[in-house]
Amino acid sequence: MVKLTVVGCSPAWPNPGGAHSGYLLEHDGGRLLVDCGPGVLARLRREENWPRIDAIVITHFHLDHCGDLVAWLWGHLHVVNGDAPAPALWLPPSGRADLANLASRFEEVFPVHEYADGEPFEAAGFEVTAERVLHYELLAFGFRASANGSVLAYSGDSGPSDALPRLAEDADLFVCEATLLAPNPEGGTRGHLASDEAVEAFEAAGAKRLLITHRPRERPLDSTLEQAHDGMELEVK
Ligand SMILES: [Zn+2]
Ligand SMILES: [Zn+2]
Repeated sequence: MVKLTVVGCSPAWPNPGGAHSGYLLEHDGGRLLVDCGPGVLARLRREENWPRIDAIVITHFHLDHCGDLVAWLWGHLHVVNGDAPAPALWLPPSGRADLANLASRFEEVFPVHEYADGEPFEAAGFEVTAERVLHYELLAFGFRASANGSVLAYSGDSGPSDALPRLAEDADLFVCEATLLAPNPEGGTRGHLASDEAVEAFEAAGAKRLLITHRPRERPLDSTLEQAHDGMELEVK
């Protein structure tokens, strides 16, 4: 069985009381954290003094998806005395440089890796494949993660793109962003989806279950759609 806990699911600004992006995937003792935005580490610390996480995978270097890596680093440098090993960090291609822009000492503490577009890698006992998605001009990825025959797909932050139905093809669960009220309010290169577009990608993928995320409180969702909330736990099957 694979279990998903939505640690945080706010968009670029926090929903009231909310944490930013962080999704904990667990199976057979392997623990994989997908994205690590502000508020995620504090939430995890409510459950255990310092979280024992095997690997963290980051979709892109917008603050709401990676900001708590800095807090995680400071914790390891100052208070974590070997009781929780530092998780492996899996970053986008060229992510080492982005990481160094956040703080200088990451590689003293964490095993750091860069994944490659479309090439499966193993993290926390999951097979993970990253695929580039459309997020303005930024290098950004969605993930497909599988273990024990269960498959979860995650859009990260993405505009409409053929990558989404590929990532989520026949997945048991598709966690897909729907940040916008209408498809393209800002014009220009797309960076996010409206909920109808998330549904379109889900249907094109033939996935089993759609969970909408990264949704601002100010933009209520059609009640027929299932929406992530902080603390939500579900089985991926
Ligand atoms: Zn975001
Ligand atoms: Zn973003």
